[in-house]
Amino acid sequence: MPRTLIRSATVISMDDAIGDFATCDVLVEGSRIADVRPSIDLGSGEAEIVDGTGRIVIPGLINAHMHTWQTGLRGYAANWTLLEYFRRMHAGLATVFRPEDIHIATLVGALNQINCGTTTLVDWCHNNPTPDHTDAAVRGLIESGIRAAFFHGSPKPEPKPGEPHFSEIPHPRREVERLLAGPLADRDGLVTLGLAILGPHYSTLDVAMHDFRLARDLKLIASMHQGGGPAKTPGGWEKLIDAGLVGAGINIVHGNDLPDDLLDRMVDLGVSFSVTPENEMIQGHGFPITGRLLKRGVRPTIGIDLESVLAGDLFSAARVALSMQRALDNAETRKASGTIPATTTIPVREALRWITTEGARMLGRESQIGSLTPGKLADLVIINASDLNLFPVHDPVATVVMQTSLANIEAVMIGGTWKKRNGQLLVDGLETKKQLLAQSGRRLVQAIERQGRAA
Ligand SMILES: [Zn+2]
Repeated sequence: MPRTLIRSATVISMDDAIGDFATCDVLVEGSRIADVRPSIDLGSGEAEIVDGTGRIVIPGLINAHMHTWQTGLRGYAANWTLLEYFRRMHAGLATVFRPEDIHIATLVGALNQINCGTTTLVDWCHNNPTPDHTDAAVRGLIESGIRAAFFHGSPKPEPKPGEPHFSEIPHPRREVERLLAGPLADRDGLVTLGLAILGPHYSTLDVAMHDFRLARDLKLIASMHQGGGPAKTPGGWEKLIDAGLVGAGINIVHGNDLPDDLLDRMVDLGVSFSVTPENEMIQGHGFPITGRLLKRGVRPTIGIDLESVLAGDLFSAARVALSMQRALDNAETRKASGTIPATTTIPVREALRWITTEGARMLGRESQIGSLTPGKLADLVIINASDLNLFPVHDPVATVVMQTSLANIEAVMIGGTWKKRNGQLLVDGLETKKQLLAQSGRRLVQAIERQGRAA
């Protein structure tokens, strides 16, 4: 079994029972973390030795929500509100995607995630008009080498005459079963399946009931957007709760407008929440619910959402969530007392939990990923803390959360295999892939312009 020993690094394990170390070794055996302690004695046998001096080792990041199929349209939607996004992306550009567009976007988007330190990506793919599109997305994820949860969702075009509106279409059980029997059969595989359903905000009650039951029958996570305009089914959540269909395994994305009493019930039932702070603020969702969750004793997971709008690095997203919530908390105190709070409300370590351990919990995989714990899968990131923008390090967690950028991500390991070393992604033909992505993005924009539907 191949072994890798990272020697003399600063380690932030994100496992409370293990803690942090100023100087520590990390031993990887095969696909798993074998040991985390100062001065590991290798005994006999070979191992690759990595000098960790001046480096910080953290668990691989978990991006809880991203529509990776939009990678070829980077920045194209940066000035759109949510309403423009529905019209121009979902009813417009999404309809001219071919399977090869989905494939290259998903592949390059996932590679960029690895480059940015994400080792597990929740790819919330809701542009699956045909099984070919779906298979292309899954192939892109597998080729990238990232650990991923492929959340299968349905497209949202304007209905043609005689066709039902997307809100009236139940999630296609046969297609989900096809995936579970084929490319995503292994529930412990590198790429696993979840459902990106409409939920009561975007579907009829019948469809929501059907989709929640489908997820429960097949033991899959059901994730759904919540918010953005009025709900398709007002009071739908209460009916789903009464039917006993809401609990762990239900994931709400955004949730900005959820009333307090409903949020209380959801938290009690074990629902998980994914906040995409930057996009929520940009597109008009409202303020992220980070603080409302923390007040109820639970934590958010954090997602990028849209590279068609903003940057794909999760450190930025976590930092935005933290800063936004501190701003809200500070404003509340100033309003109540007329002065600045005596202490901060959210320590920086919290934000690192949101993008590591909480992501693992949301996926029901906390025994496998999310922390540097012996026995867990060896998904880790090495940050070069000797870099000009990080040195000197007084508080490694602060360095990671508040100051680390893509430029400092020196190495990334997924399941015991290096995916990035010495600041370089270990992937063949990256330039060709970039060119294919650029061609795809240009073609999509031209196609929609030709149809006169670009605006
Ligand atoms: Zn989304």
